[in-house]
Amino acid sequence: MNEQQRAWRVAVDPGLVVQPACAHLDDLREVPPTTTVGCEDCLRTGTTWVHLRACLSCGHVGCCDSSPKQHAHRHAEAHDGHHIARSIEPGEDWAWCYTDELFLQPG
Ligand SMILES: [Zn+2]
Ligand SMILES: [Zn+2]
Ligand SMILES: [Zn+2]
Repeated sequence: MNEQQRAWRVAVDPGLVVQPACAHLDDLREVPPTTTVGCEDCLRTGTTWVHLRACLSCGHVGCCDSSPKQHAHRHAEAHDGHHIARSIEPGEDWAWCYTDELFLQPG
């Protein structure tokens, strides 16, 4: 299985008549996470995290929006073109576009 070539699509929301679209799926080149040990920024600053997200543009590993520092979100906002991060929690297979606030599934 080639993770880097995997495609993502917006998860269908049954509550919506018109399904939203993510404009960032075409220029996505999935990069393997730089680490699975923990949030890169939290490890540096000694803060804690709840869940881990990996940027699909560069592989940066940051913490989720439930974490005190929300490093994955801040990474997406701070870097042009880095819109989407996927969960690297065991058993989770989904991604989130921070710009469109959309839930993505592999597809
Ligand atoms: Zn998007
Ligand atoms: Zn963090
Ligand atoms: Zn990135």
